[in-house]
Amino acid sequence: MKNLVIAIDGPAGAGKSTVAQLVAQKLQYLYIDTGAMYRAVAYLALNSEENFLTAIDNIKLSLTYEDGKTKVFLDDKNITDDIRTPEVTKLVSSVAQEPKVREKLIDIQRDLAKNGKVVMDGRDICTNVLPNADVKIFLTASIKERARRRWLELSQKGYSIEEEKIQEDIAKRDKMDMEREIAPLKQAHDAILLDTTSLSIDEAVAEIIKLCQ
Ligand code: C5P
Repeated sequence: MKNLVIAIDGPAGAGKSTVAQLVAQKLQYLYIDTGAMYRAVAYLALNSEENFLTAIDNIKLSLTYEDGKTKVFLDDKNITDDIRTPEVTKLVSSVAQEPKVREKLIDIQRDLAKNGKVVMDGRDICTNVLPNADVKIFLTASIKERARRRWLELSQKGYSIEEEKIQEDIAKRDKMDMEREIAPLKQAHDAILLDTTSLSIDEAVAEIIKLCQ
């Protein structure tokens, strides 16, 4: 297998990051979680005293990797856990609509992918960030299943939120991501659809590895 660029898009809670991370681990590739970058800007919007559109000019956003796990830093502050709170999740899709935010993050994303051997996941990777990727996948699952998975993940972290409420929030976020003007979430015409509703994580990973061979 050569230095492939693997791009994965899909709606919220489809299991993209879990699956993409495992694919990257198996191939010894770099995993790039672009959602984490948009979340970092949403975190900045919640915590900065000035307007975040001004604040992003002066921040350094970096991702580091330890034992296959991504860590996110805003300047020198480790915000890996802070970007997963319900407050950040609620705000992130409106922050992600800002052209200035997308421009800045897309530059970083393309630069990280330029030498290949990467798995990058997000909403516009196949359609916009890396349209020439070697392998393009649209990973999805039924909204009910996605809500169930998110509920499980949040419960394990100690949050108690009803599954129904999570489903509503996911639907709202998907709608914003699909209907926004710049680089909306959609399946690229040449991306392969992978529906994971009744697949285990390992099965989804195996499907993607097969597509890379
Ligand atoms: O993947 P995750 O759920 O962490 O992404 C959070 C949000 O970031 C998405 O709902 C979307 O609004 C935004 N996003 C985006 N483009 C990407 C990745 C994420 O607009 N490539």
